[in-house]
Amino acid sequence: MMRLPRFRYLAPASLPEAVKVLGDLGPEAMPLAGGTDLVPNMKRRQQTPANLVGLRGLAALRAVSGDAGRGLTLGAMTRLAEVERGPVAAGWPALARAAATVATPPIRNTATLGGNLCLDTRCSYYDQGEEWRRSIGYCMKREGETCWVAPGSDRCWAVSSSDTAPVLCALGAEVTLLSRGGERRIPVAELFADDGIRHLSRRPDELLTAVHLPPVEAGQRAAYVKLRRRGSFDFPVLGVAARVRLSAGGTVEAARIFLGAVGSRPQEARAAADFLVGRRLGDEEVIREAARLAAQVAKPMQNTDLTLGWRKGVAREYAARALRELVG
Ligand SMILES: Cc1cc2nc3c(=O)[nH]c(=O)nc-3n(C[C@H](O)[C@H](O)[C@H](O)COP(=O)(O)OP(=O)(O)OC[C@H]3O[C@@H](n4cnc5c(N)ncnc54)[C@H](O)[C@@H]3O)c2cc1C
Ligand code: SF4
Repeated sequence: MMRLPRFRYLAPASLPEAVKVLGDLGPEAMPLAGGTDLVPNMKRRQQTPANLVGLRGLAALRAVSGDAGRGLTLGAMTRLAEVERGPVAAGWPALARAAATVATPPIRNTATLGGNLCLDTRCSYYDQGEEWRRSIGYCMKREGETCWVAPGSDRCWAVSSSDTAPVLCALGAEVTLLSRGGERRIPVAELFADDGIRHLSRRPDELLTAVHLPPVEAGQRAAYVKLRRRGSFDFPVLGVAARVRLSAGGTVEAARIFLGAVGSRPQEARAAADFLVGRRLGDEEVIREAARLAAQVAKPMQNTDLTLGWRKGVAREYAARALRELVG
């Protein structure tokens, strides 16, 4: 049985108290939401914060307000089981679907949206017990010096495996980050950095408090398709999120496409989205060319499930599948 390392558990009773604690302790503390990622990581000694700041008692982080017409604000502690249904399912079904593909029902009853966005990056050389990692001399992400995936590389290529992140990027959602110094609101796409170690632009003293979904526009359609080894539950080895706005005649007026699990952050397929604008999505030739362009941003490494060449090839098929879903 793997045991947790020693830590101090702090249970702030208010948001100001929570950000004060995070500000005082800096990198010595980590927020604990549902714990479905952080607790196993602590057991494997991948993350060993001396202090955990429990967010469970902060009712403000569970508030949900708005609707499809005005936009929706979801507190960071909204559980994925709630994201699957209710106002999200009614207005932003692609996000509800992404949430519904995370892990299993019991995990989604505990796991939160904020935790899903701040999920640690993953790699087959890193998601191992401490003894296994010690036997290879660890790696650059923690305690070692070498990246076993790309030994000549000076950066870590661990993968962003959040299912909701690519959809939120494609939808143009924003997050609020709160610290003692005040609030800042940034696009979800700017929360992520292309580095397996420093993969978030969030500072250690900042708490992610809310996720803001923009109002649903006339002609808006969005889709999320996920590739994983087991259909019942598994982390994605590829996720394709696409969002378009169609004119009354069916021409694409705006498009955004993001690929998840093929890089250290959700990868934007800008050339594919630009290609779609002004074209009719119902045309299979258009879909195939956009999918070809989208697949170009998929540069998977040998550090997740399934073989590298196959994963690269299948990106085009999954991009096409997502675009066909938009057609209906
Ligand atoms: C068996 C299994 C299968 C899984 N499958 C998937 C999957 O298919 N897809 C997927 O996306 N995930 C998967 N996960 C990972 C995890 O369950 C989810 O990503 C979940 O949403 C994490 O949320 P949490 O609330 O449990 O986060 P926690 O574990 O509490 O925290 C995760 C990280 O986010 C930080 N954090 C949490 N909340 C905040 C906040 N408000 N502000 C700042 N930082 C914060 C924590 O400090 C920590 O670094 C799986 C996990 C397991 C155990
Ligand atoms: S990509 Fe390299 S440095 Fe990063 S976790 Fe994997 S082996 Fe370690």
